[in-house]
Amino acid sequence: ARRLDEDYDYLFKVVLIGDSGVGKSNILSRFTRNEFCLESKSTIGVEFATRTLQFLISGGIYKLYNRKEKSCYLFVARELLSWRANSALRSPFSIKVEGKTIKAQIWDTAGQERYRAITSAYYRGALGALLVYDVTKPTTFENVSRWLKELRDHADSNIVIMLIGNKTDLKHLRAVATEDAQGFAEREGLSFIETSALEAVNVEKAFQTILGEVYRIIS
Ligand code: GDP
Ligand code: MG
Repeated sequence: ARRLDEDYDYLFKVVLIGDSGVGKSNILSRFTRNEFCLESKSTIGVEFATRTLQFLISGGIYKLYNRKEKSCYLFVARELLSWRANSALRSPFSIKVEGKTIKAQIWDTAGQERYRAITSAYYRGALGALLVYDVTKPTTFENVSRWLKELRDHADSNIVIMLIGNKTDLKHLRAVATEDAQGFAEREGLSFIETSALEAVNVEKAFQTILGEVYRIIS
């Protein structure tokens, strides 16, 4: 039987945070549409993207067996607060885990981070956070602590946080060592991964890991 998009057993909200320009929107578009944009513009309002895919979790190994289902991208022009649950229902990112359908909504900012103006509505109900910095810009790594504080102030205390060092393709410009970020992540109890949205390295893995971790916590 065909399942309706509205059918799900769990709904996970995952937010993307980090300084402006670190590559959040491109990480998301790489994941949801396999697209990358060199000159990406800020969008108006909140943007969230979803992708339908299924993967199996068995013994902690995540195996993607359906990568090309439909993908869709929604632009909700207006403020964050105008976002409504029913728009989410039309845009499932669902995964099947042990017979359960899990729908994930990945929220991206619309550039509010530039003005440190992300509202608590953005964090509300989030079970996971992808905290991104740019490996070529030390300040974006230094600001990770500020983002963690922001999460502590606004998000659920059980939120699963993954630290992501993006733009690893810019090898000659690297200014944040992998070991430094790894050490920091360990001390703070975060998962850690380095990605390149441009070269499509580890983007898939980042999303799979955080969704798997959220599932393990809530189930
Ligand atoms: P956001 O402000 O965090 O959403 O960042 P964007 O996704 O808008 O990206 C900011 C800029 O960084 C854009 O010019 C992107 O093309 C570029 N960018 C994003 N990801 C990568 C990456 O992995 N490698 C490189 N070289 N550039 C990237
Ligand atoms: Mg953006």
